[in-house]
Amino acid sequence: MNSKETNYWLETVPKPAQGTSDPLPESVDVAVVGAGFCGLSAARALAQRGVPVAVLEAETVGWGASCRNGGMVLTGMKLPVPKLIARYGRETVQRMYAASLESIDLVEQIVKEEDIDCAFSRCGHLEVACKQSHFAAYSAAAARIQREFNHELRIVPKSELRQEIGSDIYFGGMVDETSAGVNPAQYVAGLAKASQRAGARLYDHTRVVDIKAEAKNGNHRFRVATSRGSLVAKAVFLASGAYTTSATPALRRKVIPIGSYIIATEILSLDLARELCPRNRMIYDSKHFLYYYRLTPDNRMLFGGRAAFFPESENTVRESAELLRQGMICVYPQLRDTKVEFVWGGTLDFAFDVMPHSGKIDGMYFALGFAGHGVAAATWMGAKLAGVICGDPDDNPFSEIPFPGAPIGLRSGQTWALPLAGMYYRVLDYFT
Ligand SMILES: Cc1cc2nc3c(=O)[nH]c(=O)nc-3n(C[C@H](O)[C@H](O)[C@H](O)COP(=O)(O)OP(=O)(O)OC[C@H]3O[C@@H](n4cnc5c(N)ncnc54)[C@H](O)[C@@H]3O)c2cc1C
Repeated sequence: MNSKETNYWLETVPKPAQGTSDPLPESVDVAVVGAGFCGLSAARALAQRGVPVAVLEAETVGWGASCRNGGMVLTGMKLPVPKLIARYGRETVQRMYAASLESIDLVEQIVKEEDIDCAFSRCGHLEVACKQSHFAAYSAAAARIQREFNHELRIVPKSELRQEIGSDIYFGGMVDETSAGVNPAQYVAGLAKASQRAGARLYDHTRVVDIKAEAKNGNHRFRVATSRGSLVAKAVFLASGAYTTSATPALRRKVIPIGSYIIATEILSLDLARELCPRNRMIYDSKHFLYYYRLTPDNRMLFGGRAAFFPESENTVRESAELLRQGMICVYPQLRDTKVEFVWGGTLDFAFDVMPHSGKIDGMYFALGFAGHGVAAATWMGAKLAGVICGDPDDNPFSEIPFPGAPIGLRSGQTWALPLAGMYYRVLDYFT
Protein backbone atom coordinates (compact mmCIF):
# COMPACT_ATOMS: atom_id res chain seq x y z
CA MET A 1 0.00 0.00 0.00
CA ASN A 2 1.54 3.29 -1.06
CA SER A 3 -0.54 5.75 0.90
CA LYS A 4 0.90 9.09 1.96
CA GLU A 5 1.66 9.27 5.68
CA THR A 6 -0.13 12.60 5.77
CA ASN A 7 -3.25 13.97 7.36
CA TYR A 8 -5.87 14.29 4.62
CA TRP A 9 -7.71 17.11 6.41
CA LEU A 10 -4.64 19.35 6.37
CA GLU A 11 -4.51 19.16 2.58
CA THR A 12 -7.95 20.83 2.50
CA VAL A 13 -6.86 23.95 4.41
CA PRO A 14 -5.61 26.48 1.86
CA LYS A 15 -4.58 29.12 4.40
CA PRO A 16 -3.63 27.62 7.78
CA ALA A 17 -3.95 29.93 10.78
CA GLN A 18 -0.63 31.29 11.96
CA GLY A 19 0.61 32.81 15.16
CA THR A 20 2.37 36.15 15.42
CA SER A 21 6.15 36.50 15.20
CA ASP A 22 6.01 39.45 17.66
CA PRO A 23 7.87 38.93 20.94
CA LEU A 24 5.81 37.65 23.86
CA PRO A 25 4.19 40.38 25.96
CA GLU A 26 5.66 40.91 29.43
CA SER A 27 2.32 40.22 31.01
CA VAL A 28 -1.15 39.13 30.07
CA ASP A 29 -4.37 38.46 31.97
CA VAL A 30 -4.77 34.88 30.75
CA ALA A 31 -2.16 32.56 29.22
CA VAL A 32 -3.73 29.60 27.42
CA VAL A 33 -1.49 26.56 26.86
CA GLY A 34 -2.45 24.74 23.64
CA ALA A 35 -4.09 25.93 20.42
CA GLY A 36 -6.67 23.19 19.82
CA PHE A 37 -10.47 23.43 19.98
CA CYS A 38 -10.39 23.90 23.74
CA GLY A 39 -7.72 26.60 24.00
CA LEU A 40 -8.95 28.50 20.96
CA SER A 41 -12.59 28.41 22.00
CA ALA A 42 -11.54 29.78 25.41
CA ALA A 43 -9.33 32.44 23.79
CA ARG A 44 -12.15 33.56 21.49
CA ALA A 45 -14.62 33.82 24.38
CA LEU A 46 -12.13 35.65 26.62
CA ALA A 47 -11.10 38.10 23.91
CA GLN A 48 -14.75 38.80 23.09
CA ARG A 49 -15.16 39.90 26.71
CA GLY A 50 -12.17 42.21 26.43
CA VAL A 51 -9.73 40.03 28.39
CA PRO A 52 -6.08 40.24 27.19
CA VAL A 53 -5.20 36.63 26.31
CA ALA A 54 -2.14 34.91 24.81
CA VAL A 55 -2.37 31.37 23.39
CA LEU A 56 0.96 29.52 23.61
CA GLU A 57 1.28 26.57 21.22
CA ALA A 58 4.36 24.33 21.08
CA GLU A 59 3.87 23.42 17.42
CA THR A 60 1.53 24.99 14.87
CA VAL A 61 -2.03 26.20 15.45
CA GLY A 62 -4.38 23.19 15.70
CA TRP A 63 -1.43 20.75 15.50
CA GLY A 64 -2.70 18.34 18.21
CA ALA A 65 -5.75 16.07 18.08
CA SER A 66 -7.92 18.94 16.83
CA CYS A 67 -6.78 18.67 13.22
CA ARG A 68 -6.32 14.88 13.19
CA ASN A 69 -9.71 13.57 14.28
CA GLY A 70 -12.68 12.04 12.47
CA GLY A 71 -14.67 15.29 12.52
CA MET A 72 -17.64 13.61 14.21
CA VAL A 73 -19.58 16.10 16.33
CA LEU A 74 -21.33 13.67 18.61
CA THR A 75 -24.09 13.69 21.23
CA GLY A 76 -23.75 11.90 24.54
CA MET A 77 -20.70 10.65 26.40
CA LYS A 78 -18.39 7.69 26.08
CA LEU A 79 -19.87 5.70 29.00
CA PRO A 80 -23.39 4.21 28.97
CA VAL A 81 -26.11 6.18 30.73
CA PRO A 82 -26.94 3.61 33.48
CA LYS A 83 -23.27 3.54 34.49
CA LEU A 84 -23.13 7.34 34.52
CA ILE A 85 -26.27 7.63 36.65
CA ALA A 86 -25.00 5.00 39.08
CA ARG A 87 -21.76 6.97 39.44
CA TYR A 88 -22.92 10.58 39.53
CA GLY A 89 -26.67 10.59 40.15
CA ARG A 90 -29.55 11.47 37.82
CA GLU A 91 -29.51 15.26 38.16
CA THR A 92 -25.78 15.62 37.40
CA VAL A 93 -26.01 13.26 34.43
CA GLN A 94 -29.04 15.15 33.08
CA ARG A 95 -26.91 18.33 33.11
CA MET A 96 -24.03 16.46 31.46
CA TYR A 97 -26.26 15.19 28.69
CA ALA A 98 -27.77 18.65 28.18
CA ALA A 99 -24.21 19.99 27.91
CA SER A 100 -23.43 17.42 25.21
CA LEU A 101 -26.39 18.66 23.14
CA GLU A 102 -25.56 22.31 23.84
CA SER A 103 -21.98 21.72 22.75
CA ILE A 104 -23.09 20.72 19.23
CA ASP A 105 -25.28 23.83 19.06
CA LEU A 106 -22.25 25.88 20.12
CA VAL A 107 -20.07 24.46 17.32
CA GLU A 108 -22.86 25.23 14.85
CA GLN A 109 -23.29 28.74 16.26
CA ILE A 110 -19.55 29.51 16.07
CA VAL A 111 -19.35 28.17 12.51
CA LYS A 112 -22.27 30.44 11.51
CA GLU A 113 -21.20 33.54 13.46
CA GLU A 114 -17.60 33.35 12.26
CA ASP A 115 -18.52 32.20 8.76
CA ILE A 116 -16.14 29.22 8.95
CA ASP A 117 -16.07 27.20 5.74
CA CYS A 118 -15.70 23.70 7.27
CA ALA A 119 -18.52 21.56 5.82
CA PHE A 120 -20.47 21.50 9.11
CA SER A 121 -23.57 19.37 8.55
CA ARG A 122 -26.24 17.97 10.89
CA CYS A 123 -26.09 14.59 9.19
CA GLY A 124 -26.67 12.52 12.34
CA HIS A 125 -24.70 9.55 13.60
CA LEU A 126 -25.30 5.80 13.29
CA GLU A 127 -24.07 3.28 15.83
CA VAL A 128 -23.98 -0.25 14.39
CA ALA A 129 -24.24 -3.44 16.47
CA CYS A 130 -21.43 -5.99 16.05
CA LYS A 131 -23.37 -8.67 17.95
CA GLN A 132 -27.02 -9.62 18.36
CA SER A 133 -26.70 -8.94 22.10
CA HIS A 134 -25.47 -5.40 21.37
CA PHE A 135 -28.49 -4.77 19.14
CA ALA A 136 -30.83 -6.24 21.75
CA ALA A 137 -29.54 -3.66 24.24
CA TYR A 138 -30.27 -0.68 21.93
CA SER A 139 -34.01 -0.53 22.66
CA ALA A 140 -33.48 -0.24 26.41
CA ALA A 141 -30.71 2.33 25.89
CA ALA A 142 -32.91 4.47 23.61
CA ALA A 143 -35.88 4.23 25.98
CA ARG A 144 -33.70 5.31 28.92
CA ILE A 145 -32.29 8.28 26.98
CA GLN A 146 -35.81 9.31 25.99
CA ARG A 147 -37.01 9.03 29.60
CA GLU A 148 -34.04 10.70 31.30
CA PHE A 149 -33.16 13.39 28.76
CA ASN A 150 -36.19 13.68 26.48
CA HIS A 151 -33.86 12.95 23.57
CA GLU A 152 -34.91 10.66 20.74
CA LEU A 153 -32.83 7.91 19.16
CA ARG A 154 -34.16 5.69 16.37
CA ILE A 155 -33.60 1.92 16.30
CA VAL A 156 -32.88 0.45 12.87
CA PRO A 157 -33.48 -3.32 12.57
CA LYS A 158 -31.17 -5.38 10.38
CA SER A 159 -33.89 -5.65 7.71
CA GLU A 160 -33.79 -1.83 7.23
CA LEU A 161 -30.09 -1.28 7.78
CA ARG A 162 -29.28 -1.00 4.07
CA GLN A 163 -31.07 2.37 4.11
CA GLU A 164 -28.33 3.57 6.45
CA ILE A 165 -25.18 1.66 5.49
CA GLY A 166 -23.95 -0.41 2.55
CA SER A 167 -22.71 -3.27 4.72
CA ASP A 168 -24.30 -6.57 5.77
CA ILE A 169 -22.05 -7.46 8.70
CA TYR A 170 -24.02 -5.71 11.45
CA PHE A 171 -27.04 -6.81 13.49
CA GLY A 172 -28.87 -3.49 13.45
CA GLY A 173 -28.24 0.12 14.31
CA MET A 174 -29.26 3.18 16.32
CA VAL A 175 -29.49 6.66 14.78
CA ASP A 176 -29.16 10.03 16.49
CA GLU A 177 -30.16 12.82 14.09
CA THR A 178 -28.69 15.56 16.31
CA SER A 179 -25.02 14.73 15.73
CA ALA A 180 -23.07 16.46 13.00
CA GLY A 181 -19.99 16.21 10.84
CA VAL A 182 -17.28 18.77 10.19
CA ASN A 183 -13.89 19.12 8.54
CA PRO A 184 -11.88 19.47 11.78
CA ALA A 185 -8.78 21.08 10.29
CA GLN A 186 -10.85 23.77 8.58
CA TYR A 187 -12.87 24.25 11.77
CA VAL A 188 -9.83 24.65 14.04
CA ALA A 189 -8.19 27.04 11.55
CA GLY A 190 -11.41 29.08 11.45
CA LEU A 191 -11.65 29.07 15.23
CA ALA A 192 -8.07 30.35 15.48
CA LYS A 193 -8.73 33.17 13.03
CA ALA A 194 -11.94 34.05 14.89
CA SER A 195 -10.06 34.27 18.19
CA GLN A 196 -7.44 36.50 16.54
CA ARG A 197 -10.17 38.77 15.11
CA ALA A 198 -11.64 39.04 18.62
CA GLY A 199 -8.23 40.22 19.89
CA ALA A 200 -6.49 37.08 21.21
CA ARG A 201 -2.76 36.83 20.47
CA LEU A 202 -1.61 33.42 19.17
CA TYR A 203 2.04 32.39 19.57
CA ASP A 204 2.91 29.21 17.69
CA HIS A 205 6.27 27.38 18.00
CA THR A 206 6.16 28.49 21.64
CA ARG A 207 6.54 25.53 23.96
CA VAL A 208 5.71 26.10 27.63
CA VAL A 209 8.52 24.53 29.63
CA ASP A 210 7.74 25.61 33.16
CA ILE A 211 5.02 27.39 35.12
CA LYS A 212 5.61 28.79 38.61
CA ALA A 213 3.10 30.45 40.89
CA GLU A 214 4.38 33.62 42.54
CA ALA A 215 2.97 36.39 44.70
CA LYS A 216 3.76 40.08 44.22
CA ASN A 217 2.33 42.80 46.46
CA GLY A 218 -0.21 40.28 47.72
CA ASN A 219 -1.34 39.44 44.17
CA HIS A 220 -1.07 35.87 42.90
CA ARG A 221 0.23 35.34 39.40
CA PHE A 222 2.10 32.82 37.28
CA ARG A 223 5.47 33.06 35.60
CA VAL A 224 5.25 31.07 32.38
CA ALA A 225 8.59 30.09 30.84
CA THR A 226 8.51 29.18 27.15
CA SER A 227 10.93 28.33 24.38
CA ARG A 228 10.47 31.96 23.25
CA GLY A 229 10.99 33.74 26.57
CA SER A 230 8.74 34.17 29.56
CA LEU A 231 5.64 36.12 30.50
CA VAL A 232 3.58 36.76 33.60
CA ALA A 233 -0.12 35.83 33.66
CA LYS A 234 -2.85 36.50 36.22
CA ALA A 235 -4.46 33.17 35.22
CA VAL A 236 -3.35 30.11 33.24
CA PHE A 237 -5.65 27.81 31.29
CA LEU A 238 -4.16 24.40 30.45
CA ALA A 239 -5.75 23.18 27.20
CA SER A 240 -2.97 20.79 26.25
CA GLY A 241 -5.11 17.63 25.96
CA ALA A 242 -3.36 14.32 25.32
CA TYR A 243 -0.16 16.20 24.49
CA THR A 244 0.21 17.57 28.06
CA THR A 245 3.90 17.58 28.99
CA SER A 246 6.03 17.46 32.12
CA ALA A 247 5.80 21.27 32.27
CA THR A 248 2.53 20.60 34.14
CA PRO A 249 3.27 17.31 35.93
CA ALA A 250 0.14 17.17 38.09
CA LEU A 251 -2.11 17.29 35.04
CA ARG A 252 0.08 14.97 33.02
CA ARG A 253 -0.34 12.28 35.66
CA LYS A 254 -4.10 12.36 35.09
CA VAL A 255 -4.23 11.83 31.34
CA ILE A 256 -3.77 8.60 29.39
CA PRO A 257 -2.52 9.33 25.87
CA ILE A 258 -4.07 6.76 23.51
CA GLY A 259 -3.20 6.47 19.83
CA SER A 260 -5.91 6.42 17.19
CA TYR A 261 -5.35 6.12 13.45
CA ILE A 262 -7.21 6.98 10.29
CA ILE A 263 -6.98 6.10 6.61
CA ALA A 264 -8.68 7.92 3.73
CA THR A 265 -9.27 6.34 0.34
CA GLU A 266 -9.12 7.86 -3.10
CA ILE A 267 -12.26 9.79 -4.14
CA LEU A 268 -15.13 7.35 -4.70
CA SER A 269 -17.71 7.53 -7.48
CA LEU A 270 -20.92 9.20 -6.37
CA ASP A 271 -22.82 5.92 -6.79
CA LEU A 272 -20.39 3.96 -4.61
CA ALA A 273 -20.30 6.69 -1.95
CA ARG A 274 -24.13 6.69 -1.82
CA GLU A 275 -24.18 2.89 -1.55
CA LEU A 276 -21.71 2.85 1.37
CA CYS A 277 -23.20 5.70 3.33
CA PRO A 278 -26.61 6.62 1.87
CA ARG A 279 -27.44 9.27 4.47
CA ASN A 280 -23.93 10.55 4.96
CA ARG A 281 -23.95 9.58 8.66
CA MET A 282 -21.03 9.62 11.06
CA ILE A 283 -20.75 5.88 11.83
CA TYR A 284 -19.13 3.90 14.63
CA ASP A 285 -19.55 0.34 15.83
CA SER A 286 -20.51 -1.08 19.21
CA LYS A 287 -17.15 -2.61 20.18
CA HIS A 288 -14.79 -1.26 22.84
CA PHE A 289 -11.96 -1.48 20.30
CA LEU A 290 -14.14 0.28 17.80
CA TYR A 291 -14.02 1.43 14.19
CA TYR A 292 -15.40 4.86 13.25
CA TYR A 293 -15.95 5.95 9.69
CA ARG A 294 -17.61 8.47 7.39
CA LEU A 295 -17.43 10.00 3.96
CA THR A 296 -15.37 13.14 3.56
CA PRO A 297 -17.07 16.09 1.85
CA ASP A 298 -15.29 15.07 -1.40
CA ASN A 299 -16.50 11.45 -1.05
CA ARG A 300 -13.49 9.55 0.22
CA MET A 301 -14.07 6.84 2.80
CA LEU A 302 -12.37 7.96 6.01
CA PHE A 303 -11.91 4.95 8.30
CA GLY A 304 -10.43 5.13 11.79
CA GLY A 305 -9.77 2.99 14.80
CA ARG A 306 -7.39 2.21 17.59
CA ALA A 307 -5.29 -0.02 15.35
CA ALA A 308 -2.40 0.43 17.79
CA PHE A 309 -2.73 1.68 21.34
CA PHE A 310 0.54 3.62 21.36
CA PRO A 311 0.55 7.35 20.56
CA GLU A 312 1.38 8.06 16.94
CA SER A 313 4.87 7.54 15.54
CA GLU A 314 6.11 6.73 12.05
CA ASN A 315 6.01 3.01 12.89
CA THR A 316 2.54 2.90 14.42
CA VAL A 317 1.11 4.99 11.57
CA ARG A 318 2.59 2.65 8.93
CA GLU A 319 1.44 -0.50 10.74
CA SER A 320 -2.03 0.92 11.28
CA ALA A 321 -2.59 1.60 7.60
CA GLU A 322 -2.80 -2.06 6.61
CA LEU A 323 -4.72 -3.08 9.76
CA LEU A 324 -7.30 -0.40 9.11
CA ARG A 325 -7.56 -1.29 5.42
CA GLN A 326 -8.33 -4.89 6.42
CA GLY A 327 -10.97 -3.60 8.86
CA MET A 328 -12.48 -1.37 6.19
CA ILE A 329 -12.72 -4.24 3.69
CA CYS A 330 -14.37 -6.39 6.31
CA VAL A 331 -17.09 -3.73 6.71
CA TYR A 332 -17.17 -2.75 3.03
CA PRO A 333 -15.96 -5.55 0.70
CA GLN A 334 -16.88 -3.12 -2.12
CA LEU A 335 -13.64 -1.23 -1.29
CA ARG A 336 -11.32 -4.23 -1.84
CA ASP A 337 -9.66 -2.64 -4.86
CA THR A 338 -9.94 0.98 -3.74
CA LYS A 339 -6.68 2.81 -3.20
CA VAL A 340 -5.90 4.14 0.27
CA GLU A 341 -4.31 7.54 -0.31
CA PHE A 342 -3.75 8.89 3.21
CA VAL A 343 -2.89 7.53 6.64
CA TRP A 344 -2.20 9.45 9.82
CA GLY A 345 -2.47 9.16 13.57
CA GLY A 346 -3.20 11.27 16.59
CA THR A 347 -3.40 10.96 20.36
CA LEU A 348 -6.65 10.92 22.30
CA ASP A 349 -6.98 12.45 25.75
CA PHE A 350 -8.51 9.83 28.03
CA ALA A 351 -8.94 10.32 31.76
CA PHE A 352 -8.73 7.23 33.98
CA ASP A 353 -12.51 7.29 34.53
CA VAL A 354 -13.21 7.88 30.79
CA MET A 355 -14.89 11.22 31.57
CA PRO A 356 -14.21 14.82 30.58
CA HIS A 357 -12.95 17.00 33.43
CA SER A 358 -12.46 20.69 34.08
CA GLY A 359 -11.61 22.87 37.04
CA LYS A 360 -8.39 23.92 38.70
CA ILE A 361 -5.14 22.06 39.31
CA ASP A 362 -2.17 23.68 41.09
CA GLY A 363 -4.14 26.94 40.90
CA MET A 364 -4.46 26.76 37.10
CA TYR A 365 -7.63 26.17 35.08
CA PHE A 366 -7.72 23.05 32.92
CA ALA A 367 -10.09 21.01 30.74
CA LEU A 368 -9.43 17.62 29.15
CA GLY A 369 -10.53 13.99 28.95
CA PHE A 370 -12.75 14.49 25.91
CA ALA A 371 -11.72 11.15 24.34
CA GLY A 372 -13.72 10.66 21.10
CA HIS A 373 -16.11 13.55 21.83
CA GLY A 374 -13.67 16.45 21.82
CA VAL A 375 -14.83 18.31 18.71
CA ALA A 376 -17.96 19.46 20.49
CA ALA A 377 -16.98 18.95 24.14
CA ALA A 378 -13.62 20.76 23.97
CA THR A 379 -15.23 23.71 22.16
CA TRP A 380 -17.93 23.91 24.83
CA MET A 381 -15.61 23.41 27.79
CA GLY A 382 -13.19 26.09 26.55
CA ALA A 383 -15.99 28.65 26.24
CA LYS A 384 -17.49 27.60 29.57
CA LEU A 385 -14.21 27.95 31.49
CA ALA A 386 -13.59 31.33 29.83
CA GLY A 387 -16.83 32.45 31.49
CA VAL A 388 -15.70 31.09 34.85
CA ILE A 389 -12.36 32.96 34.52
CA CYS A 390 -14.42 36.14 33.90
CA GLY A 391 -16.40 35.52 37.10
CA ASP A 392 -19.49 33.68 35.82
CA PRO A 393 -20.88 31.05 38.23
CA ASP A 394 -19.43 27.60 37.53
CA ASP A 395 -22.45 25.44 36.65
CA ASN A 396 -20.36 23.00 34.63
CA PRO A 397 -21.23 19.45 35.80
CA PHE A 398 -17.83 18.15 34.68
CA SER A 399 -16.05 20.36 37.19
CA GLU A 400 -18.05 18.87 40.08
CA ILE A 401 -17.04 15.22 39.68
CA PRO A 402 -13.90 13.63 41.18
CA PHE A 403 -10.89 13.56 38.84
CA PRO A 404 -9.03 10.31 39.54
CA GLY A 405 -5.33 9.87 38.86
CA ALA A 406 -3.52 6.77 37.70
CA PRO A 407 -4.41 3.63 39.70
CA ILE A 408 -1.75 1.63 41.58
CA GLY A 409 0.99 4.08 40.87
CA LEU A 410 0.71 3.71 37.09
CA ARG A 411 1.82 7.06 35.73
CA SER A 412 0.66 8.39 32.41
CA GLY A 413 3.33 9.37 29.94
CA GLN A 414 4.62 5.80 30.35
CA THR A 415 3.23 3.88 27.44
CA TRP A 416 4.24 0.34 28.35
CA ALA A 417 0.79 -0.41 29.72
CA LEU A 418 -1.05 0.59 26.55
CA PRO A 419 -0.74 -2.74 24.68
CA LEU A 420 -2.14 -4.40 27.81
CA ALA A 421 -5.07 -2.01 27.65
CA GLY A 422 -5.48 -2.92 23.97
CA MET A 423 -5.46 -6.63 24.80
CA TYR A 424 -7.93 -6.08 27.64
CA TYR A 425 -10.42 -4.35 25.31
CA ARG A 426 -10.01 -7.04 22.63
CA VAL A 427 -10.81 -9.74 25.21
CA LEU A 428 -13.78 -7.69 26.42
CA ASP A 429 -15.04 -7.41 22.83
CA TYR A 430 -14.79 -11.19 22.45
CA PHE A 431 -16.83 -11.94 25.54
CA THR A 432 -19.37 -9.06 25.62
C1 LIG B 1 -7.36 10.06 15.43
C2 LIG B 1 -8.35 10.79 16.32
C3 LIG B 1 -9.71 10.74 15.99
C4 LIG B 1 -10.64 11.44 16.77
N1 LIG B 1 -11.94 11.50 16.34
C5 LIG B 1 -12.82 12.29 16.99
C6 LIG B 1 -14.11 12.51 16.45
O1 LIG B 1 -14.46 12.04 15.37
N2 LIG B 1 -14.96 13.29 17.18
C7 LIG B 1 -14.60 13.89 18.34
O2 LIG B 1 -15.41 14.60 18.94
N3 LIG B 1 -13.34 13.73 18.86
C8 LIG B 1 -12.45 12.97 18.19
N4 LIG B 1 -11.17 12.87 18.66
C9 LIG B 1 -10.80 13.57 19.90
C10 LIG B 1 -10.61 15.06 19.68
O3 LIG B 1 -9.84 15.30 18.51
C11 LIG B 1 -9.90 15.67 20.91
O4 LIG B 1 -10.62 15.31 22.08
C12 LIG B 1 -9.85 17.19 20.82
O5 LIG B 1 -9.24 17.60 19.63
C13 LIG B 1 -9.09 17.76 22.02
O6 LIG B 1 -8.90 19.13 21.79
P1 LIG B 1 -7.94 19.95 22.74
O7 LIG B 1 -7.98 21.36 22.27
O8 LIG B 1 -8.29 19.67 24.15
O9 LIG B 1 -6.49 19.30 22.52
P2 LIG B 1 -5.52 19.26 21.24
O10 LIG B 1 -6.22 19.55 19.98
O11 LIG B 1 -4.78 17.96 21.32
O12 LIG B 1 -4.55 20.48 21.49
C14 LIG B 1 -3.60 20.50 22.51
C15 LIG B 1 -2.43 21.36 22.05
O13 LIG B 1 -1.61 21.67 23.18
C16 LIG B 1 -0.31 21.81 22.71
N5 LIG B 1 0.60 21.68 23.84
C17 LIG B 1 0.73 20.62 24.68
N6 LIG B 1 1.68 20.89 25.61
C18 LIG B 1 2.16 22.14 25.36
C19 LIG B 1 3.14 22.97 25.96
N7 LIG B 1 3.86 22.55 27.02
N8 LIG B 1 3.36 24.20 25.45
C20 LIG B 1 2.63 24.66 24.40
N9 LIG B 1 1.70 23.89 23.76
C21 LIG B 1 1.45 22.65 24.24
C22 LIG B 1 -0.15 20.69 21.68
O14 LIG B 1 0.90 20.96 20.78
C23 LIG B 1 -1.53 20.68 21.03
O15 LIG B 1 -1.55 21.39 19.81
C24 LIG B 1 -10.23 12.16 17.92
C25 LIG B 1 -8.86 12.19 18.25
C26 LIG B 1 -7.94 11.53 17.46
C27 LIG B 1 -6.49 11.59 17.83
